[in-house]
Amino acid sequence: AADTGDHSTEDAGQPGIKTEEIDLDTLNSSSEIEVPKRLIDQVIGQDHAVEVIKKAAIQRRHVMMIGTPGTGKSMLAKAMAELLPKEDLQDILVYPNSDDSNTPIVRTVKAGRGKEIVNAHKAEAKKRAQTRNTMIMLLVFGIMGYAIITGQLLMGIIGAAFIFMALQYTRPKEEAMVPKLLVSSQKEGNAPYVDGTGAHAGALLGDVRHDPFQSGGLETPAHDRVEAGAIHKANKGVLFIDEINTLTPHSQQNLLTALQEGEFPITGQSERSSGAMVKTEPVPCRFVMIAAGNVDAIEGMHPALRSRIRGYGYELFMQDSMPDTEENQKKFIRFIAQEVKNDGKIPPFDKGAIEEIMREARRRSNRKGHITLKLRDMGGLIRVAGDMARQDDSEITTAEHVLKAKEIARSVEDQISGEITQRSREYELTVVSGSEIGRVNGLAVVGHDSGQVLPIMAEATPTQSKVGGEVIATGLLKEIAQESIKNISAIIKKLTQKDIKDMDIHIQFIGTYNGVEGDSASVSVATAVISAIEGIPVRQDVAMTGSLSVRGNVLPIGGVTYKIEAAAKAGITTIIIPESNLADVLIEDRYKEMVTIIPVKKFEDVLDIALVPEKKKDFMERVKELAKITPSEINIK
Ligand code: ADP
Repeated sequence: AADTGDHSTEDAGQPGIKTEEIDLDTLNSSSEIEVPKRLIDQVIGQDHAVEVIKKAAIQRRHVMMIGTPGTGKSMLAKAMAELLPKEDLQDILVYPNSDDSNTPIVRTVKAGRGKEIVNAHKAEAKKRAQTRNTMIMLLVFGIMGYAIITGQLLMGIIGAAFIFMALQYTRPKEEAMVPKLLVSSQKEGNAPYVDGTGAHAGALLGDVRHDPFQSGGLETPAHDRVEAGAIHKANKGVLFIDEINTLTPHSQQNLLTALQEGEFPITGQSERSSGAMVKTEPVPCRFVMIAAGNVDAIEGMHPALRSRIRGYGYELFMQDSMPDTEENQKKFIRFIAQEVKNDGKIPPFDKGAIEEIMREARRRSNRKGHITLKLRDMGGLIRVAGDMARQDDSEITTAEHVLKAKEIARSVEDQISGEITQRSREYELTVVSGSEIGRVNGLAVVGHDSGQVLPIMAEATPTQSKVGGEVIATGLLKEIAQESIKNISAIIKKLTQKDIKDMDIHIQFIGTYNGVEGDSASVSVATAVISAIEGIPVRQDVAMTGSLSVRGNVLPIGGVTYKIEAAAKAGITTIIIPESNLADVLIEDRYKEMVTIIPVKKFEDVLDIALVPEKKKDFMERVKELAKITPSEINIK
């Protein structure tokens, strides 16, 4: 009975509430939750990847992981190292070669033996050096003694000095014969996990240091200058390389050779140093390769390397969000407990704090009914919140601390966008009241997680050109503007009953510091253009986002939450969004009071809301006539 008892406590983490039994209603603090001991069991939301890694560990297969940063790629690689067998770990030694000093000899021994061997050699060398020194001293004293006795003092001193120097100079370097422990493994430890991300050739493939004193008895022997590379340190373990496409083609080629051969000699990587003359015997590097990267990593990867991994392993796609189910909520709560515990310094989270973090995770998923799996960032937020609690000398982290942390831990993009909003208000670039012809407050996403009000101006003039009208926009935005105009020209024609071929349409996006993504501005562009053509002013307290189909439907866009929050911050009170994005709206409570959100399906609804009522009557009648919609379809919430 004692035996089985021992086993179960070894596998479980600290005892507590199991993941499946977590109940937020009765939970007092995250510290009550049991955190699994094995890293692989700590991974959440990547069930497929976890299965594959477990399988790949048994079969020692390579894995390629594609996905967003911070979703657990290196965590899974580390977890795999934990799962690999520990029995066949090795130490690697490099010995001097008396036949050819530029080809050091390489030997492997069982893990832990390497250190013993090196120590034994060192002790031996020390002993020999001592004996030798004693011998020299005896000889010198002997000669001097003889000289004193025979009265030939000067000759005696010269003789002794001569012997001393001669012996010193020709002294074999006992220490130089000691092998070098190139790679050492712990006897009882896990298989190695080595991160080779961004390594230059020397760090990846091993190197031989340059020897500034190449002769004259001062040189460091070649084998002592040999340094192991990441591929050798990862022998019998896992070599993880993120952003695999940023490795030079040369390094990728060598990596492929290493994978195929399972051994790779070490030579100096800088061509003109003395290290380049040295090349060891092949050094074992039987590692499991985990290559990772973004989707574009596949393109930058050496095709042969990719096909090697594919042929002898698995390719994995990492999820960046998971469905908001009860089961996943429980896992996410355990993730919070895990991060707190792994940090070790921050106080546990209470129920309110957990709820606030969950809310943020839903928001960040940017997708209806989902929880984000960009967990590195979530971990960051958890730590900042914990630090807030520590600053308050609080024993527990509360919702208030999380809210403070969110304010502080805003991403750089968000801070920039805040700054831009502030400035454009100072310079009155953002107009949030009154009305204006041809000017629309559009909304854009900056970076990943912050929004910005993007005013759009349009002007229509009769074209001078015989060939037909042009869409005139500046720089980067030209393509987007032209694209949206093309898509919506049919609608504009239908609604204004004017052909845009006879007009030059000028479009300006104001205050854009970066490009504007996608076609999520097409509703705004179309509204601005129609306002300009018809001479009907647009309400400036309204902001809008949405993509427009050629038939006048308003299609969903990304980042709706961030866009709404940016609009609210800028002082806008009414926001038009695509109806299909309604469930993605997860704005923070403080913004809810500030804005009215109006979901729309058809472009006519946008015009009905955005155009100034008293000026648009005739036009709207025409529009509705044309579009055959009734005002009751306009759903105002
Ligand atoms: P990547 O390699 O994909 O950029 P990491 O594995 O380095 O991401 O993740 C960073 C940290 O975020 C991890 O150490 C862990 O604390 C947390 N984390 C990321 N993904 C997960 C996950 N799926 N489950 C649990 N924790 C995760």
